[in-house]
Amino acid sequence: MSAADLATLLEEQRAAYEDLKARGLKLDLTRGKPSAEQLDLADDLLRLPSEARDANGVDVRNYGGLEGLRELREMFAELLGVEVDQVVAGGNSSLSMMRDCLVWMMLFGAVDSKRPWSKEDQVRFVCPVPGYDRHFTLLESLGIEMLTVPMNDDGPDVDAIAALVADDPSVKGMWVVPTYANPTGAVCSVEVAERLAAMPTAAPDFKIFWDNAYALHHLGDDETETADILSLAAAADHPDRPVMFASTSKITFAGAGVAFLAASTDNIRWYLQHLGTGSIGPDKVNHLRHAEFFGSPQGVRDHMARHRAIIAPKFAEVDRVLSERLGGRGVATWNAPAGGYFVNLDVVPGTASRVVALAKDAGIALTPAGSSFPYKQDPDDTNIRLAPTMPPLEEVTAAMEAVATCVLLAAAEQAVERATAS
Ligand code: PMP
Repeated sequence: MSAADLATLLEEQRAAYEDLKARGLKLDLTRGKPSAEQLDLADDLLRLPSEARDANGVDVRNYGGLEGLRELREMFAELLGVEVDQVVAGGNSSLSMMRDCLVWMMLFGAVDSKRPWSKEDQVRFVCPVPGYDRHFTLLESLGIEMLTVPMNDDGPDVDAIAALVADDPSVKGMWVVPTYANPTGAVCSVEVAERLAAMPTAAPDFKIFWDNAYALHHLGDDETETADILSLAAAADHPDRPVMFASTSKITFAGAGVAFLAASTDNIRWYLQHLGTGSIGPDKVNHLRHAEFFGSPQGVRDHMARHRAIIAPKFAEVDRVLSERLGGRGVATWNAPAGGYFVNLDVVPGTASRVVALAKDAGIALTPAGSSFPYKQDPDDTNIRLAPTMPPLEEVTAAMEAVATCVLLAAAEQAVERATAS
């Protein structure tokens, strides 16, 4: 573009932005929360369980049953593709289960550790980026150093990971969100999972934190199946390498669902041993009402179809507005995920923070730029995570129109600045 064209473009975008500000919007696309309409789908839970005994006649109101209610574990074992003896049903948060595992590995060591991780000079973790901000905050809080690798369309960059873990025993583990990753929507292929399960690691107690938060959260008819990491690892003679996590946070109630941990029987024994020092049993009343509410694994799948009917149009709207406003302009790329809770928007490098600041001044709250990176630092300042599930559809439209205006203004500002400087 000529300098004059650029100046005109900037003026246009500034005018569009002033119009946007004048609308006095107040919209929020920050966190991947279910909408009230989605939560309403599970309101029958508020009237369950209909009795206080499980299928074996155990009174769920009492202490006991550390591993969780058997019928709910059976249901989710089938859904997660694992054996029932490999699954624990816990409290309302899988993130807490991840935190517990990490803390116990630091304090006591994993089932196959020679000593507690905290006794090592250094503990490092491989973090595919962009990734889930709370994974990174958790590691940072424990002083675990984060090594980033790219998240590709078929999962984490396994060549980069294999190189990091081969000779450095301080690299103790990694995160993987295998299905509809937060925030890129990528699905880890069986080939990548197989290599992660089999790769040689200098640390004998290397762990894959396999966070399958979105295992069942399909947005289309194509129900992607997650690679069977426990079997792949067992076949590669590393049965204790993966620890899988999942929950019903985005199936029933985000604040009152049930979380699951699945792993080898030795890992389960290790987990329950540590869990038992601080708990006399989980909330089996919640387990039972979930089991009764769903009825069967198919009941869970049917329930997810009802979520899909509510949220798929919101994702389609994000794609429609971005395509119409930004398509072919060379200022952004984004994904149209097949599942999960996020859209990953990459804007002109160096402008993501500016886009988020512009949006904030116009009343649209976006996840802070850099959030999907360790230490909140996106080296290219390019990545923005969009979470469209919570607002009603018309607000998603308004918010995406606003985001598009901010992306264009920030891109025009940068182009003019660079043209002036050169
Ligand atoms: N893992 C991922 C990848 C997530 O996106 C989220 C929720 N945003 C969680 C875990 C949190 O799960 P829970 O509610 O079970 O703690």
